[in-house]
Amino acid sequence: MNSKLKDVLKKTLDNGRKITFLVGAGISAESGIPTFRGKDGYWVSGSKNYKAQEIGTFSMFQKASQEVWKWFLYRKSVTEFAKPNKSHFLLKDIECLLEDQFALVSQNVDGLHKKAGSSEARTFLIHGDFDFVRCGSECSSELYPFPTTIDLSKRDKHVITEKEWVLLRCPKCGDDLRPHVLWFDEYYNEKYYKRDTVLRISKNTGLLIIIGTSGATNLPQIIVENALSRGAFVVEVNIEKSLFSEHLIQKKNGQFVQNKSTPFLEEFYQELNEIMNARV
Ligand SMILES: [Zn+2]
Repeated sequence: MNSKLKDVLKKTLDNGRKITFLVGAGISAESGIPTFRGKDGYWVSGSKNYKAQEIGTFSMFQKASQEVWKWFLYRKSVTEFAKPNKSHFLLKDIECLLEDQFALVSQNVDGLHKKAGSSEARTFLIHGDFDFVRCGSECSSELYPFPTTIDLSKRDKHVITEKEWVLLRCPKCGDDLRPHVLWFDEYYNEKYYKRDTVLRISKNTGLLIIIGTSGATNLPQIIVENALSRGAFVVEVNIEKSLFSEHLIQKKNGQFVQNKSTPFLEEFYQELNEIMNARV
């Protein structure tokens, strides 16, 4: 770990500001989860070929909820059996050391932070969570666990049985349930995606570490701007430059580290562990 980052880490531990991790799809790639925006984001239905940005929308759900569900069930069948990788476990280990000084803001909906043991109280899933569903007509804002009786193991991509479809009805009003995820034509809010909470955290952050996200969505961009303007040090760890990189390189309190997430987090964990042990 470079000396600038070591200094910032020590300083942040002393002043009690948060050490916040902002993570995206890159961190789950090693677990075999395809990204929404990549080539695996496509969905073929009949003669039509949809992009994720077209099918993962509320307007498509209103027109063709079954088709949207077929796509989501297929995606969920992939995440359901995926295992957390070393990066997920290292984030959990770092949390164990930092406790309430730690915050994890994740764009991933795949449930792998939970499987790795990250605490729910310090994990903020700003794009939702595949493990929950909610009423598509918003008769209430209640979240329901994804119906476990839907078999995800051997799915025919293009079939939803009558029995399954019954399970995807709102228990209160009978309308279609929807996956608890932020769609491409929707906005962040506090109720479902903890928008205000993470913005507050970003202002109280001394060190922000961005891993495996392209910076293409609006809330992560605001988090980074908030942190920078409040004097936080912001590091981007990525195998290639993203929308964040050039911006950070130009800042005195910004840095781009070209690395994979696991080796970076391993080093970070060791360094943090040493600093903390030296203080006991
Ligand atoms: Zn309802």
